[in-house]
Amino acid sequence: MNTASCVSIAPIIEPTVGTTAELDRLGDDIAELSAHLDAATARLLDLIREFDARAGWNTGFRSCAEWLSWRVGLDRGAARERVRVARALGSLPRLAQALARGELSYSKVRALTRVATPETEERLLAVGRAGTAEHVERIVRGWRRVDRLAEAKETARRHTSRALHVYPDEDGMVVIRGRLAPEVGAALIQALTAAREALYHKAHAQHVPAGTSGADVSTEPPTMPQQQADALALVAETALHHGIDPGAPGERYQVVVHVDAPVLADVEAPGQSVLDDGAHVSAETSQRLACDASRVMMRHDPDGRILEVGARTRTIPPALRRALHHRDRGCRFPGCGLRFGQGHHIRHWAHGGPTTLANLTMLCRRHHRAVHEEGYQVERWPDGELRFRRPDGRPLPESPALPAVAADPVGMLRARHDERELNIHARTAMPGWLGERLDVGWAIDVLHPLAATSTGN
Ligand SMILES: [Zn+2]
Ligand SMILES: [Zn+2]
Repeated sequence: MNTASCVSIAPIIEPTVGTTAELDRLGDDIAELSAHLDAATARLLDLIREFDARAGWNTGFRSCAEWLSWRVGLDRGAARERVRVARALGSLPRLAQALARGELSYSKVRALTRVATPETEERLLAVGRAGTAEHVERIVRGWRRVDRLAEAKETARRHTSRALHVYPDEDGMVVIRGRLAPEVGAALIQALTAAREALYHKAHAQHVPAGTSGADVSTEPPTMPQQQADALALVAETALHHGIDPGAPGERYQVVVHVDAPVLADVEAPGQSVLDDGAHVSAETSQRLACDASRVMMRHDPDGRILEVGARTRTIPPALRRALHHRDRGCRFPGCGLRFGQGHHIRHWAHGGPTTLANLTMLCRRHHRAVHEEGYQVERWPDGELRFRRPDGRPLPESPALPAVAADPVGMLRARHDERELNIHARTAMPGWLGERLDVGWAIDVLHPLAATSTGN
């Protein structure tokens, strides 16, 4: 059967009198159920917004969208869009309500939330009510053009104001003051957080031995600003050490690990792992760094003298890394799939695990940390499949079973909407459009608060 290249042109069929009423009813049923589904979608978005705000997804997943994709089987793009719309509706009560009443379709609401603000919501709701989905789409596109013009001006203004002042204070300390572009600031904050975690998160946990909870006041932890200062130092050192160019993963994590020989093989063993310039990292972190890196091992005797300097090696040779990329195609943590990753030894090479495809899996940076430092476990079963477990040992399936649905889900939906006294019928979501031509330029000029100033010069 060759249907793929077939273009079917439906002939216009004049329905016979007897079937006209029947088809009208069928059409009404479609319209009514669609409105019910849109109203139910509003409820779904409410739940997603709450789940997202309360970080219910933060159990090994990178984002709410990723969790959603994993849990209910939405494709990634659709999941991201649901979360975006859910968040947006949190501050757009009129649009949220119109969706909840089945008066505005999810498609329209989705488009409108791309541009709506609390100030412009009312006007845009009117657009959604009056126009077809296509009108709404075109107006939103025009609206965004005006937004972009205004935003480009604002971005240019902000960009010129970027600055970083670094100067010595009277007592020799160095003072830093600056203004960074939002995305640069975000990168800096992320780097500081990662460095702070590496320096303090695990180290602090290990400083409180069981049975002596908090009794030792002499080792008071550094304050947040002090931790930030130490984190910045690690960020700077790391940048210099790595020649600043991020490079390939194996190079990126090139770290000289000074290690007391037993530590790498056993997290519980006494001893310390120290990055090259003296920053301490936990044993778990040094295991993670050692998992996929160019490394030079320097072994110490108990007095800190270097006993042995190994040759620089790659823990995962380039050919094997290519094969690993080809097989795994990205992070294998359930629900992740991020394209860039690091090779993880399922059984660490320091414990005698071989560097073979069977003992390797790709994990993104976030999930590599989850496995080494947050207690998530991964093993490969004899059938070749990976099995992940949460820190408490519960399995983390590739995709969980979907909940059972009632025998009559549509009836249930209707009953629930009746309960809430929503009067949804076949004409609930009908636009007010009467067929006149849409002049997008004129509509934007009238509706957009910045249209006059942005297009006027
Ligand atoms: Zn690893
Ligand atoms: Zn991942």
